[in-house]
Amino acid sequence: MLPTQLHAAVLTDPGKVRRNNEDSCFADGDLGLLIVADGMGGHAAGEVASHLAVQVIRDQVVQALRTGKIPARDGAPLHLSDRARLLDAAVHLANDMILETAQKSPERRGMGTTVVAALLSGRRLAVAHVGDSRLYLLRKGEFRQITQDHSLVAEQVAKGLLTPEQAETSEIQNVLSRALGVKAEVEVDVTEPNLENGDLILLCSDGLSRMVKDGAISAELSRLKEPTEMCHNLVRLALEQGGRDNVTVAVGRVQSVGLWSSVKKLWRRPARRTA
Ligand code: CA
Repeated sequence: MLPTQLHAAVLTDPGKVRRNNEDSCFADGDLGLLIVADGMGGHAAGEVASHLAVQVIRDQVVQALRTGKIPARDGAPLHLSDRARLLDAAVHLANDMILETAQKSPERRGMGTTVVAALLSGRRLAVAHVGDSRLYLLRKGEFRQITQDHSLVAEQVAKGLLTPEQAETSEIQNVLSRALGVKAEVEVDVTEPNLENGDLILLCSDGLSRMVKDGAISAELSRLKEPTEMCHNLVRLALEQGGRDNVTVAVGRVQSVGLWSSVKKLWRRPARRTA
């Protein structure tokens, strides 16, 4: 089976109401890594928390891919692939770093962030998330939410106490049941869906998912070819619907890589020093 790669793009916008953008994001097709984080907390602390989450996860992934060493974490599920364990450890470290930063400065106490991160892992995608930033998969016209929101309304829908329609208009929509930077212990959901050539992956903050219906998001992704164009149009749709929150989208298209491209990529890789 041919190896896969991600053709990726990312875009963030403060929206039409808020002056600050508390979302942070990262996308690198060569690394196969996409991250979206949505921060919270006064005095611009939300920006600090989401930025820290993205920075720590990105740095951990880059370092592990360069050295081949996967950070060990006690309690990490054994059935996960190396790359899924790497993401799991990186998200836990981000939690520690945000808590530590908050404890050092009083004006940053109480800051936190959601995070959703995806890392290409052969023919699978390692996905780690905390909070209500989402990852969707579009495959041959079928649009599916892979992550389950860690929010009070999502829990009430799961228990049958609220219908999905009631959840959409609930006044407690923004209350999270899990976030990074809140407690020393955080439960991180990690999944590894299989991938197929042509799959589209979308990561987003709730500034998109609350403004634009899933059907409209799916239609836009299906209509367009380039991830950069998809990001621009999804952000535009969120702004047209009111843009009441910061909006962030990251898109990755899964492509099989021909043998010749794989060989060229190997040649481009810098020689590793042995001394
Ligand atoms: Ca938000």
